[in-house]
Amino acid sequence: MTRVFLASRNTGKLAEMRRILAEHLPDVEVLGLDDVAPYDEPAETEPTFEGNARIKALAAVAATGLPSVADDSGICVDALNGMPGVLSARWAGVSGDRETKDRANNELLLAQLADVPDERRTAQFRCAVVLALPGADGVVEHVAEGVMPGRVIREVRGSGGFGYDVLFCADGHDRTTAELPADEKDAISHRGQALRRIAPVVAQALAGRG
Ligand code: IMP
Repeated sequence: MTRVFLASRNTGKLAEMRRILAEHLPDVEVLGLDDVAPYDEPAETEPTFEGNARIKALAAVAATGLPSVADDSGICVDALNGMPGVLSARWAGVSGDRETKDRANNELLLAQLADVPDERRTAQFRCAVVLALPGADGVVEHVAEGVMPGRVIREVRGSGGFGYDVLFCADGHDRTTAELPADEKDAISHRGQALRRIAPVVAQALAGRG
């Protein structure tokens, strides 16, 4: 069995990666952060999603020696010149559990867009995924991206998903991504797109390693 490490504790991301990879390569084991010896996870200091995903993927290879995948994602709001972007997770500057941070981030975003009319509330979820492959000549990298365009609504709706899902309707949808079943969100999401793009590359690289 070949192994790939996804530098994440998010069980949803791990399950999605396992599902998508299995379509390309049987007998692949996807490990998460909870399956490997603990290591110092790097700070996300880069100004781009790709840059932060690269930092995480390279740290993962250095710590585990395994072919490693890392992602970074966020919401880019046009009326805020693309912010929060890479700052999405910590936009309101509030500490606490995920629920507390998500609520504060959503309240801040709603307040910032209070005077912005419907036609200018466009936004995109963006995701970059980096695959880092250790080898005799150093680490080889592959990058894939995904974008889900949509708009920010005026009140929270739905109980699925996480983060800004309760405020976001993807283009062509009246329901928020928090109101869509998980498989419907995966099918259109920025992360689903990026993972589906990198999966055949992962499969080919792992198959080559036997
Ligand atoms: P991460 O890449 O999983 O660390 O996500 C960064 C942050 O971007 C999250 O904490 C959320 O605030 C936001 N975000 C990224 N992807 C999504 C999504 O699919 N739905 C809602 N929020 C998201």
